[in-house]
Amino acid sequence: MEFPAFFESAAANVPPASDDGLGQASPDWAQPYPAPWFVDPPAIGPDDQVTPIEIPPGPPEPGGPPFDIESRDWGNSGHETGGADAIAYYVPWHADPAAWGIYFLERPLFAFVTDVAQDAGVPANSIAPVVLRQVLFHELMHFQFEVVGSELEDVLGRPLYLDYLRYRFGRPNAGLSGPIEETLATWRKVRFARGKLQAFLRPKPPSYLEAVMRAASAAPPGYRDWKAAGSDRRREELVATVASMIADRPIVTGGWGNWLTEENKRSVPRRWVGTPSSLPAVGALQKSAPQVTVRAFERWLTKQGIKPVPSGNGSHRKFEYLGRTEGYGTSGSSGRFYRKDAKRLYKFFGYPTMPEFLIAVRAKRQIPRVSSDDLRGAIEQSATIAETMRRW
Ligand SMILES: [Zn+2]
Repeated sequence: MEFPAFFESAAANVPPASDDGLGQASPDWAQPYPAPWFVDPPAIGPDDQVTPIEIPPGPPEPGGPPFDIESRDWGNSGHETGGADAIAYYVPWHADPAAWGIYFLERPLFAFVTDVAQDAGVPANSIAPVVLRQVLFHELMHFQFEVVGSELEDVLGRPLYLDYLRYRFGRPNAGLSGPIEETLATWRKVRFARGKLQAFLRPKPPSYLEAVMRAASAAPPGYRDWKAAGSDRRREELVATVASMIADRPIVTGGWGNWLTEENKRSVPRRWVGTPSSLPAVGALQKSAPQVTVRAFERWLTKQGIKPVPSGNGSHRKFEYLGRTEGYGTSGSSGRFYRKDAKRLYKFFGYPTMPEFLIAVRAKRQIPRVSSDDLRGAIEQSATIAETMRRW
């Protein structure tokens, strides 16, 4: 199974929501239980640098000079009020296919690393790569439930997942305060901390697991219930409970999303919000931007059905896309596509970063797009829910 092709093919079988569904107030409108990381994600400012990264399963090549986490005060991590999702968050494919992926926030992440390190009595740098992966496992659980959402939409033939995130996500259920998805995601993260770490992350400080469990238990409701997912049987029940909430009807089977492979999980884009120079401290690597020629860019434009329009100037060409005109230079040495054009055009085409845009151009990929106006409506409504939450 390839991603994001899986999401695309499942979505193709889901008819757009009818007028009496999306776009109208849900019966739960008076008290929605939204996922805060979806309706009100941490803001990425215009000055924040977003970098596509890889989190290798083995030791990464040293990517630059060492970075000392303890040389700075990173402030409050927000873990006690927002759990792991204050440190990293998941953007669902359903909401924005181009921005789909996991975003790690440098400042709160290093604040959290500092807290865990202090609690465990070890230097922050010694556990930062472990903490990054621990948070990754939490966020991958959100990916898994989006996959479950796609499966259910495919089977039941109607949109479900975004409504689940907006209305049903945090509803108390199964004797727990909710959100149950956070209970499972936090359990997953603790299990990572408990498990055998990859060789390059060893030795695990003996006090690390205790520190992780204490932090998880001090997180908000849902997150702090992680022990409720301790047994296989109970966990299967909780997965069935989440599936029921997504489908908005009773479901008793609990194996949902179990088929996901390590490779599937690796295909979820990971991004770093902060300075790339601190990446060596967490054992991650920056994905670099490939060189692209003007010819390759024009082939890519053609693939999207966009035709370059010759302008009066021989060293500059123009094109039109979704009613807007843009252009690019053609006199780069060896036919190279200018960096300054790439820097402008990645935003124009809706890519979250320039390297991802250039990688897509080289691979002649289609521009990822929200498939229907219904989704746009759903996103706008989420903003309204976020407003409502802020007023409470
Ligand atoms: Zn979470």
